[in-house]
Amino acid sequence: MAHMRPNLNEARSKIVATVGPACDSVETLAELVNHGVDVFRINAAHGKIADFEALLSKICEVRQVTGFPVAVLLDLSGPKIRLGQLAEDPLEVEVGDELTLVRGETANEARELVCNYPRLIDEVKTNDQIMLADGTITLVVSETRKDACVCRVQNSGTIRSRQGINLPGVTLSVSAMRPEDVENAMWAARNDVDFISLSFVRTPQDVTTLKDLVSSLESAALVIAKIEKREALACLEDIVAAADGIMVARGDLGVEIDVAETPVAQKRIIQVCCEQLKPVIVATQMLESMHHNRRPTRAEASDVANAILDGADACMLSGETAIGDYPVEAVDTMDRIMVRTEQMLKGQTSAGGVKVFDRVHPITSAVAHSAASIAQSIGAKLVVIASRTGGTAWVKSKQRDFIPTLGVSNNPATLRRMCLFWGIMPHFIQDIDNQQHVYERVCHWGREHDMLDLGDRMVFVTGTGIVDNTHNLVVVHEVRGQEASEASV
Ligand code: PGA
Ligand code: MN
Repeated sequence: MAHMRPNLNEARSKIVATVGPACDSVETLAELVNHGVDVFRINAAHGKIADFEALLSKICEVRQVTGFPVAVLLDLSGPKIRLGQLAEDPLEVEVGDELTLVRGETANEARELVCNYPRLIDEVKTNDQIMLADGTITLVVSETRKDACVCRVQNSGTIRSRQGINLPGVTLSVSAMRPEDVENAMWAARNDVDFISLSFVRTPQDVTTLKDLVSSLESAALVIAKIEKREALACLEDIVAAADGIMVARGDLGVEIDVAETPVAQKRIIQVCCEQLKPVIVATQMLESMHHNRRPTRAEASDVANAILDGADACMLSGETAIGDYPVEAVDTMDRIMVRTEQMLKGQTSAGGVKVFDRVHPITSAVAHSAASIAQSIGAKLVVIASRTGGTAWVKSKQRDFIPTLGVSNNPATLRRMCLFWGIMPHFIQDIDNQQHVYERVCHWGREHDMLDLGDRMVFVTGTGIVDNTHNLVVVHEVRGQEASEASV
């Protein structure tokens, strides 16, 4: 009972958790959902379509077991450049060592490196920096030749096969999506995946390329642009406008730009998303030490809290849930930090004006806004938004008020989409055009969860159908004894 979702006490902020060997049984995934996971992330960098398929079918089972419409995000690797096979793996390097980047699939000698982007050798110049091992090893290009590029090691460390390579400040001509990204995106679009994210986005066109592909397959999946390149920061507003949502991908961002710049970059990205009413996820190392510890560091607890206070809609767990020793504890910790932090946010929330954005009819925006203010003034216990596409829930989400909000729909994909919208609790109701039915089902839900009492007020947002595709009707209900018991039939 305590864990039945959705419930009025859960965090308004959303949790995205990466699936991996540490949590990929149906039992553990269900436990993660019961502790607060809203969206499961499948990292396309690890595995093939057959693996994603197996995960997706487990997640479908988890939806059955928990009754919660947990969403799925497929994260495409995009033009991530990686080392190939090393001749000596791992390879220990010292300051001043010389390494040579050559073309080909595998290195022939210990001091040779190969990578999955052959043109790299043509596109770097003398004195460019090449970062390996998550930025822990810096190489500086000392000489470029026709078929090789000689680099000098700036700090000692360990290099391993297939580690990522970052080239801060180097403009590469690599395309936004590789053939396997296209293939994975097509699989996602055809298999009801809810969110598709693209790594290393550099321009708004990168986003529209993926969006066009997705919509050509008649998929409603939302496209999330991962901000992890300086080039993306340079045209951030346009990328946010082109995308359906944004991820602050701090892992690579912190290597591609000075790590000292990342906190301010994060705040700016979140702010632009708030202005444009786009959902934004903060990712990577949020509870890093929980890979091997039951408790987070104080700095990590603050990191989650600050992301929420900045206006993030969701925080993401990566290795913490995918390969960590304490996946359930990590989710539980994140959820608790969110709930506690939102108490402070509550005090800060100001009324604000009606925010309008292009995906939603202005009448809908105004109605969602006034529903919230009616709810506030009569002390309503619940706002209920009936939604076919999730657009109204999206607008309500960005108002950041604390009135518990049930997003109801008869469309499972719409409910899963709501999993990323701050403060919206998704709930299935079959006949959303029948107001009496919706009211009865909501009363039933409230009784089942022990959440609505006699006399509690609720505000319903629906449409009369008179103005096409808008929500133009606000109805106020009070829970009455007779109706509440009728609702249980
Ligand atoms: P990744 O993206 O884990 O796919 O690299 C997130 C990040 O870079 O932070
Ligand atoms: Mn990344």
